[in-house]
Amino acid sequence: MTSITIDGPAGAGKTTVAKALSEKLGYIYFNTGAVYRSIAYCYLVNPFDLTKTIKLKKFLSQINLKIINKNNVQFIWLDNIDITQKLSTPEMDYWSSKISQYKEVREFAVSLQRNFAYHQNIVIEGRDIGSNVLPNAKFKFYLTASVDVRAKRRRKQYLEQGGEYALISYEKILQDIIERDKTDTERAISPLIVPKGAIIINSDRLTILEVVNNMFNICKGG
Ligand code: C5P
Repeated sequence: MTSITIDGPAGAGKTTVAKALSEKLGYIYFNTGAVYRSIAYCYLVNPFDLTKTIKLKKFLSQINLKIINKNNVQFIWLDNIDITQKLSTPEMDYWSSKISQYKEVREFAVSLQRNFAYHQNIVIEGRDIGSNVLPNAKFKFYLTASVDVRAKRRRKQYLEQGGEYALISYEKILQDIIERDKTDTERAISPLIVPKGAIIINSDRLTILEVVNNMFNICKGG
């Protein structure tokens, strides 16, 4: 089985690129951020002091998540309910990043991610995939862009989503991205880094199609 990893900071375009690349290659697509978002979603139902390790372990042991890939669209089921639509909110942006700092949370998420990834050809995106989850992946990419470009892209996405998201200002989005970058790169366990052997792609001046074709050619030529 072949794994291709795409790591990088928030808003770098990983999801769009990973999806398009997986389709081009005929591989399964896996967005690992959704696992942390799902844990944050469960946590917010009944929040508690996350430093209470016993409580945190008990909480994680009761989470029953299923990752389903249908026609290359990823769905997350919690018990028997599809929670996919609930996971892409600014609140989940914030809490997924906070909760992902805890060792127990990461162990839970990584084990789930590895189980999903081991049995299929996969394009998998996240923050620690090439460095920690699948360090022996065949191809590793680190996709990045300047904070300004990332904030502008997120703002465009929110405008397209409409409703309350369209009201979030560029300045607020920029601030949130800067804070998330800080939390993700400075956490003690599996911080966001350029994985060993990863090919770095800066998408500031590249279209999605250019990034995808670039990656595709590398995978096919390798
Ligand atoms: O990629 P996405 O924005 O959905 O990820 C949400 C949060 O989950 C990130 O800010 C990061 O803190 C965490 N995450 C992680 N490791 C991954 C994927 C996501 O720590 N592999």
